[in-house]
Amino acid sequence: MAAMDMENNGDNSDHQIKWKFQGNKDLNAASISVRGILNMLVDNLDKSDQRPCIMLGRGDPTEFPSFRTTPLAVDAVTDALRSFNFNSYAPTVGVLQGRRAIAKYLSEDLSYQLLEEDVYLTSGCTQSIEIIISVLARPGANILLPRPGYPQYEARAAYEKLEVRHFDLVPEKDWEVDLDSVEALADENTAAIVIINPSNPCGSVFKYQHLKKIAETARRLGILVIADEVYGHLVVGSNPFVPMGEFASLVPVVTLGSISKRWIVPGWRLGWVVTNDPTAILRKTGIVESIKNCLNITSDTPTFIQAAVPQILEKTNDEFFSKIIYIMRQAVEVLYETVAAIPCLTCPVKPEGSMAVMVKLNLPLLEDIVDDLDFCLKLAKEESIIFLPGVAVGLKNWVRITFAAELVSLEDALGRLKAFCQRHAKK
Ligand SMILES: *Cc1c(COP(=O)(O)O)cnc(C)c1O
Repeated sequence: MAAMDMENNGDNSDHQIKWKFQGNKDLNAASISVRGILNMLVDNLDKSDQRPCIMLGRGDPTEFPSFRTTPLAVDAVTDALRSFNFNSYAPTVGVLQGRRAIAKYLSEDLSYQLLEEDVYLTSGCTQSIEIIISVLARPGANILLPRPGYPQYEARAAYEKLEVRHFDLVPEKDWEVDLDSVEALADENTAAIVIINPSNPCGSVFKYQHLKKIAETARRLGILVIADEVYGHLVVGSNPFVPMGEFASLVPVVTLGSISKRWIVPGWRLGWVVTNDPTAILRKTGIVESIKNCLNITSDTPTFIQAAVPQILEKTNDEFFSKIIYIMRQAVEVLYETVAAIPCLTCPVKPEGSMAVMVKLNLPLLEDIVDDLDFCLKLAKEESIIFLPGVAVGLKNWVRITFAAELVSLEDALGRLKAFCQRHAKK
């Protein structure tokens, strides 16, 4: 349309040219992206507010001093860089020593060994999502995604013209998968189900028995399980992290992950796609070949970052991990207790892991707030706090709050949240 208007403006000599290009509207599916909405909230901040803006809207706590990555990881990268050995292009599947180190790292949680050829290195878990969606996007196919979920899957599927069907995560059942709805949604064109565990946005960590039931359901339906474990090991509650790959003898599993969250280096862009394929189904169905072909035509993560992976994985000590978990555990306690004391908010489940939690807005108790987006816009403007409106993750009139934050900042934010809710409460 814009091209037509330009044409009609007419005072230039090019007016007879009919431009044959236009923007790809399939990309507009990504316009309600998390980043898009966060940018809108940031634009709505009151610049005259002297208080610091506290960002609790995304899973990137790098700005908080307690969430600085370990210097050992920085050493690993600088060592790789200074060696001058990694200035070349990387193999499209990833550098061998990096693949091997990830196979070893993930195998520690499995009852079988992954091999280096099961691992493909990517530019973060975001590219892992792009790859697996491209691999599965045949005409007519569909994929089952969780609601609430991680909107990168929806955006990428729309772009690849892969139909999306949503199953529910049930807050009254610790955000477990509604398996009946999964069975009802699937048909002969269903290719896969996506399971995000530990869950962004819910903060849940699935129990072994529930994961097994998901695997059994997927087996019955003949579909692939895509296990997004980008928050693997970021567990603050009592449920241990169990990788979906543990059930790969029942159903083929493709595990997606990265170092972005556990090492708190989302800017380093290093992730992986892993085929858990002990029964060789992923090889027989051409999934493995498609992954390789897809990697042949995409950009690689910088070679020196890939080469640093063995040192990053092997040298990072438990002290670094446990300090982060310790801070997040305290954060969860403070957040959960504060929210429980605010009448217009409900947190149905105390988070067990990841970096985020879903909190429900009780809108009838609020005076002049129409929905979750309105809540977040006013909270940004009046209190300089950024939460993610639930609509961005598929659940209207909820908000997603990130608890990976400096404790003092979180307490400050929660104080402002309380004041905001009191001010807007129905009298
Ligand atoms: C952050 C996140 C990703 C993307 O991870 P990157 O490594 O930063 O690309 C993928 N899935 C989920 C559920 C996430 O929260």
